[in-house]
Amino acid sequence: MSSATAPTLLKILTSVETLSRLRFRDDLFRAFAARALDLVQGRMAILYRATSGFYGMGLVPLGWCVPGDDDPHWEEYAEPETILPADPFLAEIIAESADTHLSGLRVQGSGDGWRLACTIETHTREHLVLELQTPYPPEREVLEGIRIFLQCFENQLRQWEYANLDTLTGLLNRKTFDEQFDQFIAEAERAERRVNERRGDDFRGNRPCWLGVVDIDHFKSVNDRFGHQIGDQVLQEVASAMLGLFRGSDKLFRFGGEEFVIMLRGVSEDDVFNIFDRFRAAISTLDIAPVGMVTTSVGYARIDPSYKPGELLGRADQALYYAKAHGRDQVRGFDDLIMSGAIAMPPTAQPAVDAGGGELFFD
Ligand code: GH3
Ligand code: MG
Ligand code: MG
Repeated sequence: MSSATAPTLLKILTSVETLSRLRFRDDLFRAFAARALDLVQGRMAILYRATSGFYGMGLVPLGWCVPGDDDPHWEEYAEPETILPADPFLAEIIAESADTHLSGLRVQGSGDGWRLACTIETHTREHLVLELQTPYPPEREVLEGIRIFLQCFENQLRQWEYANLDTLTGLLNRKTFDEQFDQFIAEAERAERRVNERRGDDFRGNRPCWLGVVDIDHFKSVNDRFGHQIGDQVLQEVASAMLGLFRGSDKLFRFGGEEFVIMLRGVSEDDVFNIFDRFRAAISTLDIAPVGMVTTSVGYARIDPSYKPGELLGRADQALYYAKAHGRDQVRGFDDLIMSGAIAMPPTAQPAVDAGGGELFFD
């Protein structure tokens, strides 16, 4: 039987060099999948995010990769949240890495082909799984090479996380919002275009992106009554609930203090209020010991890519301000408030948000 031969030193070094110069997390994942496929001389790589739900272990496909003329060709999965059942081979490696908090590599083979599966641990509590399909059994050196390449990738990922995640909650930080806003929007538009292409053109522009700002109500009194450490625990619980309530393709940021920003992608105007309100309602039912219940107020605005991020934040912020002034524990949309005459259009050149990075809105 033939087998995949060990990658050359040059190939390995080139792959590591490619990873080392990437700045965006999604680019890192793509490059990791493509380079790993090349190193094992595989016929397909599939990247998944593992989820556990009511029906057990599930896999959300994020993208796949096939060999190309020069480099492997990467395709992102067009529909954002399709959950597939994990087969026993993948389920076992995911369960093992969830237990040990270590990444792993496993091989399964039969006459039809071979499967290599790597789990990738992240600080966002996401378990990622890369499956590589090869026609031949991989040699021991190939597996060793992949193991080292996986380690390089994880080192690179740790550095990305250190620079881009908020240390208390694991959500994206304010700096990442400032630096990568345009990239996130461009990526969301690309994904939307692919969905439109699949379904026909009539969907175009009907599912835009939205920016929501969330502020915990009366949070100062939580700190005053229970101390800062318990306050921090509340922030962690709210962030963790956010991660569970929004899609993996939505971007969640902690902007500092008890303020969060959410970028939703591919959501119709009819659905956006319900999505934010479902979040608000879910938070208000949490029983966070010893504090009990906390509520949040949310303001949101449609993301028009021709506006600067500060202007968009200013709009969502105005809607949030309205929610705070009218009873808190509620969701308000900028466009609805403008249409009903409840608020006036802000001067566009004067975003209401300070550029420095601290508090967003209130005295
Ligand atoms: P409102 O309903 O108007 O939003 O009232 P609030 O009390 O939530 O708002 P305010 O801006 O008056 O207070 C925010 C508080 O958040 C004040 C500050 O002590 C606290 N805070 C800011 N950052 C942190 C943090 O990292 N940890 C903790 N525990 N508290 C923080
Ligand atoms: Mg605040
Ligand atoms: Mg607050």
